[in-house]
Amino acid sequence: MNKRVIPIVDYRQAMPPGMDAGMLPAPAEPTGFLGDALGRPLHDLRISVTDRCNFRCVYCMPKDVFDKQYQFLPHSALLTFEEITRVARQFVAHGVHKIRLTGGEPLLRKNIERLVEMLAALRTPDGREVDLTLTTNGTLLKQKAQALKEAGLKRVTVSLDSLDDQNFRRMNDVDFPVARVLEGIEAAHAAGLGPIKINMVVKQGLNDHEILPMARRFKGTPYILRFIEYMDVGSSNGWRMDQVVPSREVVRRIAAELPLVEADPNYTGETAERWRYADGSGEIGVISSVTHAFCQDCSRARLSTEGRVYTCLFASEGHDLRGIVRNGGSDAELAGAIARLWNQRGDRYSELRSEQQNARALRKVEMSYIGG
Ligand code: SAM
Ligand code: SF4
Ligand code: SF4
Repeated sequence: MNKRVIPIVDYRQAMPPGMDAGMLPAPAEPTGFLGDALGRPLHDLRISVTDRCNFRCVYCMPKDVFDKQYQFLPHSALLTFEEITRVARQFVAHGVHKIRLTGGEPLLRKNIERLVEMLAALRTPDGREVDLTLTTNGTLLKQKAQALKEAGLKRVTVSLDSLDDQNFRRMNDVDFPVARVLEGIEAAHAAGLGPIKINMVVKQGLNDHEILPMARRFKGTPYILRFIEYMDVGSSNGWRMDQVVPSREVVRRIAAELPLVEADPNYTGETAERWRYADGSGEIGVISSVTHAFCQDCSRARLSTEGRVYTCLFASEGHDLRGIVRNGGSDAELAGAIARLWNQRGDRYSELRSEQQNARALRKVEMSYIGG
């Protein structure tokens, strides 16, 4: 990676207790480039638009925690579309050129197409469009794909953990049939929201027997299947290392029947390792968040539904931007707060997880809140 090392001020040292980055004076105008404390640029922004979901995937929102009593955020706490767009504009001014909408289930947010339209109108400092994508469980895609495309969405990623209807219903834990998600994927393809990626989280003993059936099903189709290692994100899924199926095992099992050759990454910092079918009939990806940390190239910030910025998926605390937005802060203040919190970022949880076991004991934000 071409790392630009820039001078860093450690604002944590300078910041009085109880103050957040947003309360400090703003630096100069955004320049289209921000580096963190380890020299990593800011390129991607994931925006969570809701903490609610119509699924209760067992590895993400287990029913015993996310039950009827669970307190989701009140509507007034959520950033409005105007607020999200205003914050995103400052991120884009700082060098973000890829935005992914997520959740909870992002298609549950009312009039999400309107937000897509607003974000699609953003331009990078050199006048380019932003690469605008969305991750969804696919349940509402059939109805929404065309409107999302017309609003300016470029692509979608659909989560699909099983092709076996019974197992799929068991994993989403709300008895949702897999056929409806497959219809959603086809509708997204027909609407031109491709290339579509299909994400399968693999959990030992739950769906690892479906690795090969999934590979067979999507080989030779326009869809790019990606296998994700089950992660210790959040504190409610009871994660254990022995439930992780390492990516190298996924590749080994597929290659034993369908020969694979390793392919180069599309760009620096790509989270998936790519493998092509040797017979030229497409590719798969593996995302080894647990067994092969990729912190050194991590260029991703996450904006929560209520306007907090998380500089790592495994962070326990976010930096509040909603306060600036709702208390009359200027765009320059917003831009300054983003610059400071990125400048001071030193997160590398996945590397530490491998180095020191006690990193896992930290309290972490839930996946359904931050959006993966
Ligand atoms: N609801 C949407 C969906 O499922 O696509 C978007 C939000 S979901 C939190 C984003 C992604 O995180 C999904 O692909 C999901 O499978 C993945 N995910 C959730 N919990 C995970 C875990 N413990 N380990 C790995 N991936 C996880
Ligand atoms: Fe919902 Fe996505 Fe989490 Fe499943 S992975 S519970 S669909 S937010
Ligand atoms: Fe990025 Fe944090 Fe994941 Fe490392 S652990 S790749 S810093 S999100």
